Amino acid sequence: MANDDYEAGLKMLQELTTNAQQIQDRLLCEILVKNAGTEYLRRFLHGQTHKQLFKTNVPIVAYEHLKPYIDRIANGEASSDILLAEPVAGFSLSTGTSGGQPKLIPFTSETTNVTASSVTLYRSVMKKHLGDIDEAGKRMELMFAKPDVETPSGLKASAVSSRIFKSIQATLPKLYTSPFETIFCRDTKQSMYCQLLFGLIQRDEVIMIGSIFASTVLRGFKVLENNWQELCSNIRTGQISDQITDSGCRTAASLILKPNPELADLIGNICSCKSWDGIIRKLWPKTKYIGTICTGAMMQYTAELEFYCGGLPLVSSFYGCSEGAIGINLEPLCKPSDVSYTFLPDAVYYEFVPIKEECITESPKQVEFSGVSQNESLETKSNDEDTEPVDLVNVKPGRCYELLVTNSKGLYRYRVGDVLMVTGFHNNTPQFRFVGRQNIALGVDVERTSEADLLKAVMEAKTLLDPLGFILTEYTSYGDTSSTPGHYVIFWELKAKEGNNVKELDPKVMEECCSRIEDSLHFTYRMYRKENIIAALEIRVVKQGTFEALMSYFVSRGASLSQYKTPVCIKPKEALKILDSRVITKFFSPRTPI
Ligand code: AMP
Repeated sequence: MANDDYEAGLKMLQELTTNAQQIQDRLLCEILVKNAGTEYLRRFLHGQTHKQLFKTNVPIVAYEHLKPYIDRIANGEASSDILLAEPVAGFSLSTGTSGGQPKLIPFTSETTNVTASSVTLYRSVMKKHLGDIDEAGKRMELMFAKPDVETPSGLKASAVSSRIFKSIQATLPKLYTSPFETIFCRDTKQSMYCQLLFGLIQRDEVIMIGSIFASTVLRGFKVLENNWQELCSNIRTGQISDQITDSGCRTAASLILKPNPELADLIGNICSCKSWDGIIRKLWPKTKYIGTICTGAMMQYTAELEFYCGGLPLVSSFYGCSEGAIGINLEPLCKPSDVSYTFLPDAVYYEFVPIKEECITESPKQVEFSGVSQNESLETKSNDEDTEPVDLVNVKPGRCYELLVTNSKGLYRYRVGDVLMVTGFHNNTPQFRFVGRQNIALGVDVERTSEADLLKAVMEAKTLLDPLGFILTEYTSYGDTSSTPGHYVIFWELKAKEGNNVKELDPKVMEECCSRIEDSLHFTYRMYRKENIIAALEIRVVKQGTFEALMSYFVSRGASLSQYKTPVCIKPKEALKILDSRVITKFFSPRTPI
């Protein structure tokens, strides 16, 4: 990054965060003036553009409400101003919860510029804390593009990440280890294998390892663990495996892969070590950090990542969604549990719906920088007086909010579905900790358990596994109501640190894990359990590779691998079958919760 861009980026950040209110008001005014005549807004605003009218008349909506309008655009209805005055240039495929079909979010040519300017800001912050990475070497970023889908209108639908990968195509050879052909390979297994191969070949140049989400980095390490001998053999002979049939990948390999027995021996020696503790530093000795999102549901993967990275910092640099909200982590070197994102006020117009289940921490200090894994409690407190959505600058530290966005993509007061907690302010702009998804609720009676509640409870229980030599690599949940009373089922995929067998898991410890989860869940759950309205919680341990199969299922249904997040609660029956058919052993909580 050029020095001028860097200075300009930091200056812009100061200006944006200082003038947040004015920028937000101006942005809303521009969106309304431009789109007041659209079919959708006319229904509520009758051509007017006042902020107050917007707040009283335009309803707060979820995707399902806008879907009929979006579908009409996607189906090519001639009328051009259904949701937006500007022509729609295409659609983003949002994975959101990864729970179902991807959503279509329209975009226009204008929205691309906002994304570009936020990338400059984020890079300036990174340069401030980590130096000029681009000059120091290459990034081994695991990237997976999803092919565009054509809608009946002829407009393309693509994952935001895929468009970003396309936009950096020219810089790939200089800044990244993965060639374009591997990122755009349609077979994600071949793509992953080849990206690892290219990363290993260029190991001396690698200064950063990452992917958008932490789960993908770990997936990369699983593939490496299963394939390192073959990768070494490819490096030794200079010939890529026969299992790589994609012509793009083979051509890319033919340009760079030369017989290198020395490198193959070196890598082979490192990988054949009994423990992979700190392996990243050994394989890629110049790595400065792991760049990947480790917050929210990704928090569960930090322990395993830390195991591999041997003290390298885990950097969660941004929060973003296809709907356009963007937040930057201004302290990229802080611990994953302390990460907060400063929202950029020029990206979209934000509103925040206070959540009745208010987040209260035990001491105000912990509100500022606390992670779910820390000594923090999320309790339920009804607070009816302030349920109205508030503007960006009016949120209160320590409180949780559901995010609404209004943007120039045709979304008006749209529920993104994310829950955020205010941790502080940078100038006049709030900083948020990502708490979880609002609509992922596990429940078997009238009680509801949020993603954050469940994550916190699972994090508590998994500490019991450490002395047994097992790591929890993935989990998900399911509310089983097939018998009465219903009960919570938690699927766990475990990895033995050093050759232990999952079948030999100590039942006493595993039962205690079930109870520990129950002890850590919210008051209503525990009360219902004591009154036998909910039956004992069950942990089902599944075979290695089960969550890989689950991911393949969701990717086959349209999710982008780069944006994929394991669903915290399973709804589709087919997905449940994938899990149930791979269960090795089951444990139940032997006692009622404390
Ligand atoms: P998508 O719908 O595929 O664009 O994915 C966006 C969603 O990913 C957001 O709405 C969040 O739920 C999640 N997400 C994005 N950034 C972060 C982050 N930094 N921490 C936790 N979750 C995130």
